Amino acid sequence: MPYQTINPFNNQLIKEYQTHNDEQVEQALATAHQLYKSDWAQGEMQPRLQVLHKLAELMTSRSEELAKGITVEMGKLIEQSRAEIKICAAIASYYADNAAEFLKPVPYPSSLGEAWVEHHPIGVIMAVEPWNFPYYQLMRVLAPNLAAGNSVMVKHASIVPHCAETFEKLLSEAGAPKGAYTNLFISQDQVAALIDDDRVQGVALTGSEKAGAVVAARAAGKLKKSTLELGGNDIFAVLDDADIDHAAKVGAQARIANAGQVCTAAKRFIVHQKVADEFLKKFTQHFSELKTGDPLDSNTTLGPLSSAQALKTLSKQVSEAVKQGAKLHYGGSAVANNAGNFFEATILTGITRDNPAYFAEFFGPVAQIYVVENDEQLVELANDSHYGLGGALFTRDLARARRLASKIETGMLYVNSATDTAPELPFGGVKRSGFGRELSDLGIKEFVNQKLVVLAGKS
Ligand code: NAP
Repeated sequence: MPYQTINPFNNQLIKEYQTHNDEQVEQALATAHQLYKSDWAQGEMQPRLQVLHKLAELMTSRSEELAKGITVEMGKLIEQSRAEIKICAAIASYYADNAAEFLKPVPYPSSLGEAWVEHHPIGVIMAVEPWNFPYYQLMRVLAPNLAAGNSVMVKHASIVPHCAETFEKLLSEAGAPKGAYTNLFISQDQVAALIDDDRVQGVALTGSEKAGAVVAARAAGKLKKSTLELGGNDIFAVLDDADIDHAAKVGAQARIANAGQVCTAAKRFIVHQKVADEFLKKFTQHFSELKTGDPLDSNTTLGPLSSAQALKTLSKQVSEAVKQGAKLHYGGSAVANNAGNFFEATILTGITRDNPAYFAEFFGPVAQIYVVENDEQLVELANDSHYGLGGALFTRDLARARRLASKIETGMLYVNSATDTAPELPFGGVKRSGFGRELSDLGIKEFVNQKLVVLAGKS
């Protein structure tokens, strides 16, 4: 894929980027590996944490410029781009403040002698990242690994090269030595060759199930650990005792934020029969009030999809779902008369299990509505999915919420809120949503050697 910035609002090509050849990749890998062997990575953590502090400062002070870069490159509403920069700075600060505590030696009382587990870096980490949060996805990998002493090399999505390049520059400005973070404009074959190289010791991918399967298989072939943050088909369950006004408002936003292109977006709305009509009416009302337009304009509430290809894929999925028997309750088409990649906010009902839409992830503003009669049906439907990333439950009965939350097969479950993210909370899924966790204390432990030392014998 060529690395190009194309504004999804009008499909104008802004810039093309040169790709890296094999020689450049080898040089970058050698530099990254040398750095991992050096005192920078193996010694005191403080200099690395200083870089993270500085990175947080830089991102905060340049928030407006960085946010604009996201919006122009992949179409996110400007307000949401600002929020993305804010959480990136928060993640950098979080690991700067907490990494030393997370990675300090842990004593293990033992009959064999004084024992403890130390945490050491393992080498170069190869990351493959998606375009939908072009800075946040990078930060989730960079911050914990930089703190731990691993060098990070990244192949970012080919439609966000400006953000990819800018992030590397920010690291350099924050004081990271060459090799600590490397952006690579490379092909899938070059990614595979890097994964094969002994100097690469871990692989992290966020993206589609298809890419995850290819990259994780490659890593497994060389007996290397990988973490996968993949797709989701998250539920948004509305129980019969929920505050329907609140649920409809939060649900609509949870489906259309980032034009619906969020792995943890609410995608399957499972509503109790008693409140189904009321919920659908209010939810539809929210969709009808959305305003498409330039994502740089703060009055716009539904931006374009990230690319012409994304629009094509979503349009096809929706028409296929309808052809197979789903009912189009609202929307359903690309927005006419504009040059951008806009798709109407859309609501599908009457999706049966034999409809391909039932198991599919719609990466755009398309909500599926299901109606259930009781909590058992809700759990059954929620778990009848290949995915298991996040989910949300709306009810006034918190005991019922706890009971249901424990039965739903996902990596994350939020009650009376849409699925969210924070630096201190682990992020990740089960089933085909992937494995491993990013963020929090769990995220920093994914790619470290948890080395046991035992003073067992007489000195
Ligand atoms: P994608 O096609 O898998 O792309 C993601 C990244 O993988 C891009 O950098 C892409 O490069 C690269 N890639 C694709 N195939 C590859 C291969 N065979 N070898 C090496 N690299 C490969 O995903 P997408 O469609 O852009 O993103 C949407 C998907 O990501 C959705 O399923 C969404 O749910 C998921 N996602 C998950 C999370 C999470 O945290 N769980 C977060 C965000 C998105 P190119 O751009 O060059 O193709």
